[in-house]
Amino acid sequence: MLNKEIMKRASKSGAWLEQQPREKCGIFAVNSYQGSGNAAHITYLGLLSLQHRGQESAGMAFKADGGIRHFKGMGLVDHVFPREMLFSIEARTILGHVRYSTTGPSLAVNAQPLVARSFDLSGIALAHNGNLTNTRRLYHKLLQEGHIFHTTSDTEIMLSYLSRFKGEGLEKAVKQTMAIIQGAYAAVAMDDERMVAFRDPNGFRPLAIGKMDDSFIFASESSSFDAVGASFVREVKPGEIVSAGPEGLRTVDSEIKANPSLCIFEYVYFARPDSIIGGKSVYEVRRKVGFLLGKKIDSDLDMVIPSPDSGITAAIGLADYLKLPVEWAVHRNPYLGRTFIEPTQDERELAVRLKFNPIREVVEGKKVAVVDDSLVRGTTARVLASLLKKAGAKEVHLCIASPPYKNPCYYGIDIPLARDLAALNSGLEDLAAAIGADSIKYAELEDLYQAVGEERLGLCSACFSGIYPVLGKIEER
Ligand code: SF4
Repeated sequence: MLNKEIMKRASKSGAWLEQQPREKCGIFAVNSYQGSGNAAHITYLGLLSLQHRGQESAGMAFKADGGIRHFKGMGLVDHVFPREMLFSIEARTILGHVRYSTTGPSLAVNAQPLVARSFDLSGIALAHNGNLTNTRRLYHKLLQEGHIFHTTSDTEIMLSYLSRFKGEGLEKAVKQTMAIIQGAYAAVAMDDERMVAFRDPNGFRPLAIGKMDDSFIFASESSSFDAVGASFVREVKPGEIVSAGPEGLRTVDSEIKANPSLCIFEYVYFARPDSIIGGKSVYEVRRKVGFLLGKKIDSDLDMVIPSPDSGITAAIGLADYLKLPVEWAVHRNPYLGRTFIEPTQDERELAVRLKFNPIREVVEGKKVAVVDDSLVRGTTARVLASLLKKAGAKEVHLCIASPPYKNPCYYGIDIPLARDLAALNSGLEDLAAAIGADSIKYAELEDLYQAVGEERLGLCSACFSGIYPVLGKIEER
């Protein structure tokens, strides 16, 4: 019963193309680039490769005559940075960011990097991926102390503390700020002298170090190093402060005990498959989860079909275990943008037909497994099952390469409201019936741990397990 209501609400929400959990942000920062290229163009390429981590706004802050300047705007990276503007930036140290909002509204003023200026026009720029969890307390404390907020983003709280402490240098300012803030933050700060990367003691969100022509790069995902021709050095460790300056790279002791809890959903969904996170290939982890999921399939099947494009890697693993062919039997139109975010019913139906189209000649009369990385509201699964059946598929079995998704995230991921989550309070048979599939199988949390090869204590899995590594919800202001 509940599932029908869920599906109805998901359809009525007018957000069916926006149903997946969304990553908050991506960071790409180049320090003292000495090569022959243009540092702004390199940053642009890095941000393009991280576009999946945030599509609402993009920005760059850079050192220029008269202090730190920035250029930010709403929209995708190639929209925000016209070519002529990029090549007019001569700076060699640039901090870039792509944003999706989770704590502050989607406003231009919240676009990052945020910049705080001093009287002498020097300043600090800050780019942040994550969510602070003690926002309310710090916000009111800062207000009482006379701070005037210019944004509605928790990142400004961090920036305010960095500015307050910067008299002793950026490294010490970061250390003092880390002693005050709580929650999830992978961040890079920059002033006139240094670029400092730092990660919360749990290391919820990834942050990697790369090298290019003797210059260091900090980025949310290692795949962005490949995009610019840089090499991967290592990851910033949970609780670590890594500072880049004229002498190279150095680690500053944060004096905060690390308690690693890397977000397991980075492997399931968020990160690109060509990234290395927590020392593991995202592709290999996803493939292995699919393989382990294959062990649970007891139906007699003809083929494995990936849900475009999110189920591809797990589908390969699942097909490998089942010794079945992978068929690209559902074509997805890659050119659909945000045109249909709030469609009428007619527009929604049209959008469905435009977005997915099964290939009748492949699926007709066949029993198929459809693989996706996760099931949130279930709208895509319902549409795919319906279209495949209309195209003549005899049976459609849904295989989800992650466990049922039941709890909110307080560490930098926007997860749909609990009432919209398809797995909540649902038996598998009810859920399959509501989606129009013949069966549903989920991977188990143990499969994810096995695929990552980590102790469960080193990973956050709270959205699946309900066990939160850091107590407390995000405090609203
Ligand atoms: S709650 Fe889920 S999405 Fe959030 S950090 Fe933990 S594993 Fe990641």
